[in-house]
Amino acid sequence: MEKNEIFHVHTFRCGHAAEVEDEAYVKKAIELGADKITFTDHAPFPGDFFAWRMKCEQLDGYLTSIRGLQEKYAGRIEVRCGLEIEYLPTFKNYYEELRASEAFDVLLLGQHIFEYKPGLWNYEVELSDEVNAMGLFEAQIKGLETGYFDVLAHPDRCLQKMGEWTREMNLDSKELIRVAREQRIPLEKNLASMESDGMYRKPFWANVGEGDAVIIGYDAHAPEEMERRHRKKMEIEAK
Ligand SMILES: [Zn+2]
Ligand SMILES: [Zn+2]
Repeated sequence: MEKNEIFHVHTFRCGHAAEVEDEAYVKKAIELGADKITFTDHAPFPGDFFAWRMKCEQLDGYLTSIRGLQEKYAGRIEVRCGLEIEYLPTFKNYYEELRASEAFDVLLLGQHIFEYKPGLWNYEVELSDEVNAMGLFEAQIKGLETGYFDVLAHPDRCLQKMGEWTREMNLDSKELIRVAREQRIPLEKNLASMESDGMYRKPFWANVGEGDAVIIGYDAHAPEEMERRHRKKMEIEAK
């Protein structure tokens, strides 16, 4: 039987989550009846250029903390340690190091920024909403093709500002879904996106077929969010 998993949980290290111990999430997950919890905090990048994530020097502490919880709660709940990370081609070696180290159970592709030109990040350039959205979308497809990532987070979220669903968006979505299927990478239906206007794009999911792997993600930045989204997930699964 498929495990009752709480997938996609952040920690205080990213700087925009609740200031609570990592253990608070595990305790809440047990209280909610989960038998698996997967942490995927925002990964640092060498040089610590980007905001909204832990610093490189925090990475070891994160790993040690989550592995400690894995041992402490063994037999009660399975605890996994992953990272949520963007695909930025410049950092090819870094992804290869992360994969080769086998330190993490999951690398979750979460495309919040993209490399507009080599070494130039999209937020450093004045780009239209459309160029931004399609740049992120394209980067997700490229990322899937690399084989570095295990799951794709909120594939539809970057289309938030695109307004009405167009033929082009539909074709691009089908292409992304095709690549994910080919690579056997699950697509994440993100419970946080469902709480925000326009972030969850139903027409995208209408293209996802029976045979495509889908995982529901909590994107929890606080134990209370985990609880609220757990209820939502139960509702969805009851349908
Ligand atoms: Zn976050
Ligand atoms: Zn996240």
